[in-house]
Amino acid sequence: MSIKVYNTMTRGKEELVPREDGKISMYVCGPTVYNYIHIGNARTFINFDMIQGYLRFAGFDVTYVQNVTDVDDKIIGKANEEGVSTDVVAEKYRVAFEEDMAALGIEPPDIAPRATECIPDMLEVIEALVEKGYAYESDGDVYFEVKRFDDYGKLSRRNLEEQRMTVQCEVDAARKRDPFDFALWKASKPGEPSWESPWGPGRPGWHIECSTMSIKYLGTGFDIHGGGQDLIFPHHENEIAQSEAFADGARFVRYWLHSGMLNIDREKMSKSLGNIRSLREVLAEHDADTVRMLMLGTHYRSPLSFGDGSLAEVHASLARIRNCRFNLEDHIRKAAGEKAGLHHSDRQTVLVHFLNEAEVEFRGHMDDDFNSAAALGVIFGVVREVNSYLDEAGDIKTPAGKLVLLEAQRVLDGLCGALGLFRGAAESAGSVERVPMGGPAATEGPSREQLIELLLRVRETAREGGNFEFADRIRDGLAELGVRVEDVQDGFRWRLER
Ligand code: AMP
Ligand code: ZN
Repeated sequence: MSIKVYNTMTRGKEELVPREDGKISMYVCGPTVYNYIHIGNARTFINFDMIQGYLRFAGFDVTYVQNVTDVDDKIIGKANEEGVSTDVVAEKYRVAFEEDMAALGIEPPDIAPRATECIPDMLEVIEALVEKGYAYESDGDVYFEVKRFDDYGKLSRRNLEEQRMTVQCEVDAARKRDPFDFALWKASKPGEPSWESPWGPGRPGWHIECSTMSIKYLGTGFDIHGGGQDLIFPHHENEIAQSEAFADGARFVRYWLHSGMLNIDREKMSKSLGNIRSLREVLAEHDADTVRMLMLGTHYRSPLSFGDGSLAEVHASLARIRNCRFNLEDHIRKAAGEKAGLHHSDRQTVLVHFLNEAEVEFRGHMDDDFNSAAALGVIFGVVREVNSYLDEAGDIKTPAGKLVLLEAQRVLDGLCGALGLFRGAAESAGSVERVPMGGPAATEGPSREQLIELLLRVRETAREGGNFEFADRIRDGLAELGVRVEDVQDGFRWRLER
């Protein structure tokens, strides 16, 4: 079965045919580390984490590169504002970014190059572009001459006039031959970070950073380049111009994938509207799986309007999946041991058939340009079916019944895992609804999460019996251990204080 992806370059869905059989090379523009990331940035990183995770699930050997932009005008601006060096700003927010990704349960990319570590590589590319006649020096700056690259505009499909309108007002227009030429190298002003170059001390432009780092780690003609839709122009258009000019016209990227923008209550997030929501703020209120599931509930290319109301709804849906997983575990624990050669009842045969069909349907949706929203629908279908099977628990305790339960667990956990739900780190912030207790997996000891949830259920029983003093002692004891418990309408929420 083949996977289809929507390629921004061709504006259509295409079969994903990798450069090398069975392998995917993928580069996603990472954060500019001058602030805590906001919930819109988080959407893009979650979407591409979902995409790379699904490609691995589908059997590809994926190399995922995501850079860190640690030299940039915004970082310099922030350093001046705070009266510290740019290194201090970049390191603080780079570490914060890693913490944020861990809090979301996102594994680090295979390679996470920092721009400042690759300056010699960038200088090599810029020098080659000057030599080949695509770039020129002007007063210590180096610019890419857009009109020398015939295909300029092929990704964004903008005509030259539109490009002129966008870039005309740039401050350093005077140094350029043409207003829409863009900087590969910027001469440094006093107090700015700088590196030696053939054109004097300076620093790289943002676009050349991504071209250089992607080619350095993946080679020209790699498979997937991703980022938010706001990067199509000028960032990715400029990356193509530089990279293809550098490689004498060889194609830079096979498939361009762009994640849709996240808005707040249908309005663009912006400083002037004062509606920027940091990921940290959101994670203080909602657990990581809820945030992830909210994002996955909308196709990765569609716009998404973010609001706390929608998170509350998602939280309730997520609890349905969690409860089903706990219930399955509980029944598996109670079921008799496995024995071969026992027949399934009709109900069991129907359920196993349903589960296998669901797996096929799930893959069909994900293979169609990563339709995670439809894939989630399949998971809810599985939850409904498993719940109604468990409700009529008559034949479950037989050995054959146990095998069916294990199959249901394999399918449910597998599909959730393919979307990156219920990963260890994200699970460390969770919620406990009124569910039967799940036992530890047979081969492992109880996890920290299971022990916390056990204590919370004991607390609930104490409260139900009117023993509030005992219940409060459990809550206070957990608080001392850094576990914050909140009572909500349908149970409890808890999270580990960072
Ligand atoms: P930046 O650090 O600003 O370069 O952004 C990091 C990533 O987040 C880029 O891929 C952007 O395209 C993406 N991004 C920025 N704003 C939004 C938004 N409102 N919704 C979705 N993605 C965004
Ligand atoms: Zn980039």
